[in-house]
Amino acid sequence: KPNPEGDTHFLEDESTKIFARKVADHYSARSNQTLEEREASPIIHLKKLNNWIKSVLIQLYAKRGDAVLDLACGKGGDLIKWDKAKVGYYVGIDIADGSIEDCRTRYNGEADHHQRRKKFSFPARLMCGDCYEVPLDRVLEDDAPFDVCSCQFAMHYSWSTEARARRALANVSALLRPGGIFIGTMPDANVIIKKLREAEGLAFGNSVYWICFDEEFSEKKFKSSNPFGIKYKFHLEDAVDCPEWIVPFHVFKALAEEYDFELVFVKNNHIFVDEYMKKPEFIELMKRLGALGDGNQDRSTLSPDEWEVAYLYLAFVLRKRGQPDQT
Ligand code: SAM
Repeated sequence: KPNPEGDTHFLEDESTKIFARKVADHYSARSNQTLEEREASPIIHLKKLNNWIKSVLIQLYAKRGDAVLDLACGKGGDLIKWDKAKVGYYVGIDIADGSIEDCRTRYNGEADHHQRRKKFSFPARLMCGDCYEVPLDRVLEDDAPFDVCSCQFAMHYSWSTEARARRALANVSALLRPGGIFIGTMPDANVIIKKLREAEGLAFGNSVYWICFDEEFSEKKFKSSNPFGIKYKFHLEDAVDCPEWIVPFHVFKALAEEYDFELVFVKNNHIFVDEYMKKPEFIELMKRLGALGDGNQDRSTLSPDEWEVAYLYLAFVLRKRGQPDQT
């Protein structure tokens, strides 16, 4: 279809779609691991740490009976965490159809033949879709409003264009009730840019990850460039290998405010771990998950390289303005 604004704009739109597809195909192609494969992963302790961080967020902000929207839910790795929080209803959406299929299998209790578990106690709706492109208010008209929205390790995929970043926030805002909570984790742009500055060229990393920026986003261009579409390639051993986008947190916060959110907190994951590891209930959880040694702030099981990857991420909590309906 001809584009009134000319070919360049059309090409930009096309390339955005191509990148969204690349991300989707990457995640879709990742098959479910067996328990043995998972334990053999070079980043198994990082995965456990990330699960602990997500569990802490969920335990802090989800209440019994809550309606939950899990944007970019992936294979449903958080279903058990929501079950433990005794939520009342769950909607999971992801762009990767393969992941949604795995999520459905897990929800139906068929994920692991060794570990057939009881069915989840909440009803769920699982859907395949692009949460950063499609207006979800109509699609989820009968499911909204939600008490909690979660977007774990995925918000940055919306930052390829301003329109997508806005759509992501507009969707969450439209679907949450007043006073509802939006929790998430995403890369910490400050850390990534600091590492880029310290690097010799446009790439840096360690034995388990690397990040490589395109020539066009060399350091000099950061200050003048617009805050959307700053792309890099991210590789994390046994987990990720696809394009991602820098999310400058101050821009994210300002944009979120336009969509009626106020910031509750933002913490780099290193700080998050240090803070919540002091609380007995979360130490206990860490012991059970087995991410950090015996759980008393001993990081012996997590390799230094995995711990460096944890530093690349932050956790955020936003609250939708307004008072919850008292009726
Ligand atoms: N939230 C899950 C978790 O914590 O286990 C999955 C995290 S995984 C790192 C990122 C997920 O974002 C993938 O499942 C991917 O398919 C999903 N994703 C990326 N872009 C998306 C989009 N535009 N709409 C919906 N999901 C998307």
